[in-house]
Amino acid sequence: MSAQPRMPIESGVPDAFQYMHPALRRNYGQWAWHDRPRPGVLHHVAETGEEVWTVRAGTQRQLDVYTIRKLCDIADQHAEGHVRFTIRSNIEFIVSSAGKVDPLIAVLEEAGFPVGGTGNSVSMIAHTQGFLHCDIPATDASGVVKSLMDELYEEYTNERMPNRVRITTSCCQINCGGQGDIAINIQHTKPPRINHDLVGNICERPSVVARCPVAAIRPAVVNGKPSLEVDERKCICCGACYPPCPPMQINDPENSKLAIWVGGKNSNARTKPTLHKLVAAGLPNNPPRWPEVGAVVKKILKIYQEDARDWERMSEWVDRIGWSRFFELTELPFTRYHIDNWRGARQTLNSSTHIRF
Ligand code: SF4
Ligand code: SF4
Repeated sequence: MSAQPRMPIESGVPDAFQYMHPALRRNYGQWAWHDRPRPGVLHHVAETGEEVWTVRAGTQRQLDVYTIRKLCDIADQHAEGHVRFTIRSNIEFIVSSAGKVDPLIAVLEEAGFPVGGTGNSVSMIAHTQGFLHCDIPATDASGVVKSLMDELYEEYTNERMPNRVRITTSCCQINCGGQGDIAINIQHTKPPRINHDLVGNICERPSVVARCPVAAIRPAVVNGKPSLEVDERKCICCGACYPPCPPMQINDPENSKLAIWVGGKNSNARTKPTLHKLVAAGLPNNPPRWPEVGAVVKKILKIYQEDARDWERMSEWVDRIGWSRFFELTELPFTRYHIDNWRGARQTLNSSTHIRF
């Protein structure tokens, strides 16, 4: 028998239609209108008159197999066997009759999954891979998320913000969490400490030198071995040299802090996308509950809730009142470190989602 050629393993996103609720498949692109009967429930009516209800619940995002089984059992027994996840790790159950909605909500809440996250609520926090999958995190992003969402539970299950609030968390300054109305990101405050014994064996030195955005790294010979050195007056503590060269250790329990950024927005709705701006720096990276971060986030949310006009996103609110008023209202200290005087960026960076060639 001739050997069979080994076929490539296709990876990437599978075709979503095969998993879709049949009513969604039948009416794809043919919806007439929709509304929200209550927080956490979406109601869509198709051109044909067919109706579907979607019940949205929060999950812990990094799901163990037992929780996934539990959610699938709920889908089989109390919904119609179809679920989907939103990009913020909310799970959605789709049912084709209004009578199934309340019993499903009761079962979800009984099992500890809050129903909400729609409309003008604080939806689930998008967070980065952290300790589970990434090799460079300086904090446990999912832990920060868990502690914060425990405190923002009522804002998830109610829609009482001026507009939707999207929070993100990133466990290093690469910021996989993306732009958020409020972003909680790690901030390194000291240049990397170099283990010179390992650099020559592990790191491709020219790549590491090329990686530094401010040209602070130079090749060097230390103790007779090829290594690197950092000009600490130039280093901006970004951490970019650490992924290609782990001996340039930048994570540190004392000096890796958390920073809070405000006013980022990915969507093109009403106003163009915006980059979030630093508002609080040097907060302690304080597991397991990160109380200092929670206090600042809750304060910003409270002021936004009280002061923003209806339908103003965080960035639009700050644009209207101005940053000085923002710092006044939130009582966050404004320091010289908040002023971005770096001249290396183009004026707009990638603040538009349009593709440019
Ligand atoms: S934010 Fe940084 S540490 Fe976290 S997953 Fe992304 S690259 Fe890794
Ligand atoms: S931390 Fe950033 S700025 Fe500092 S040496 Fe490394 S790459 Fe350069």
